This record gives sequence, structure tokens and C-alpha cells, in this order.
Amino acid sequence: MEQTFVLVKPDGVQRGLIGEVIARLERRGLKLVGAKFLHVSRKLAEEHYAVHKGKPFYEGLINYITSAPVMAMVWEGPNAVAVVRQTMGATRPYEAAPGTIRHDFGLTVSRNLTHASDSVENAIAEITLWFKPEELVSWGRDTDRWIFESN
Ligand code: GDP
Ligand code: MG
Repeated sequence: MEQTFVLVKPDGVQRGLIGEVIARLERRGLKLVGAKFLHVSRKLAEEHYAVHKGKPFYEGLINYITSAPVMAMVWEGPNAVAVVRQTMGATRPYEAAPGTIRHDFGLTVSRNLTHASDSVENAIAEITLWFKPEELVSWGRDTDRWIFESN
């Protein structure tokens, strides 16, 4: 079963959209296995966005993500990485499909509300960066068999 890392970024928190993001992921059928509300340190922000270091928007991105609290989560389900990226929508809200979070609540790339891991490999790395193993909750959900068939 796949896991992926999700952030409701500071703009999403400030605009009262934590519940909206959680509701959409729950409704999709994914299962929450970890969550924490925190103010991101510059160090954590720089590690999380290391791949973007040197890009023109990097400083602004670090300032944005450390500007106010975020909601960090781990979600689990079949194809969780791709499913969550799809629910978030394209990086630039003006290119995101209607019905996605970034389309429905966003306008510009520098305030695009959420983060989601873009590959299984990066999901593992991001979950490890943000969560200790004991902070993840392994639990059975009775409705799972009505959402997907397990092999
Ligand atoms: P994501 O995986 O869809 O979040 O997109 P990326 O990994 O490409 O970029 C990380 C984050 O950096 C995005 O979610 C945006 O918040 C920000 N970002 C990306 N590209 C740009 C850009 O061209 N300008 C600005 N201001 N921010 C950007
Ligand atoms: Mg990315």
C-alpha cells in the first residue's frame, strides 16, 4: 500500500482550508496515517525544497513556507502518490483542472495552497524527513473493503 506526504501550506491554513483538504482526501477514499500542525523552521524548509535551491523563486518559496503554520500529513491508499497529485491539481492554479484544490481555491503559483509528493521515492524521503516512525499510525479501517479490493 502506497503512502504520500501532504502539506496544507500557510495560505491554506490562513484561509481556513485545512478541513476542506482533509475532507477531499477522505472522501476520495484515502486513509490518514499521520498528521502534525507546526511552524516550519528554515532548516526543514530548505531540506524539503532542496531540489529547488538556486531557482529564481527559491527564496520566496522558503519565506512563504516558513511564514505561518502548516498542516503536515501522511495519506495512504492504492496509488496514493498519483491520486493525491491529481486531487491537488497542476502546480500553477491557472493551469489546474476544475475540481482540483488548486483550481477551486487558487490563482497563482506562489500561493498554491498545498504540497504533495511527486513520486513514490520522494514520498518515502519526505515522510522520513517530516515524521518519526512512531508518529505514523497503523490502523485498519472497516470501510476499506468497500473502497478497494485487496489482493
Ligand atoms: P509542486 O510539486 O506542484 O508543488 O511544484 P514544484 O515542485 O515544481 O514547485 C514547488 C513549489 O514552488 C510550488 O508548489 C510553488 O509553491 C513554488 N513554485 C514553483 N514554480 C514556481 C514559479 O515559477 N514561481 C513561483 N513564485 N513559485 C513557484
Ligand atoms: Mg514538487
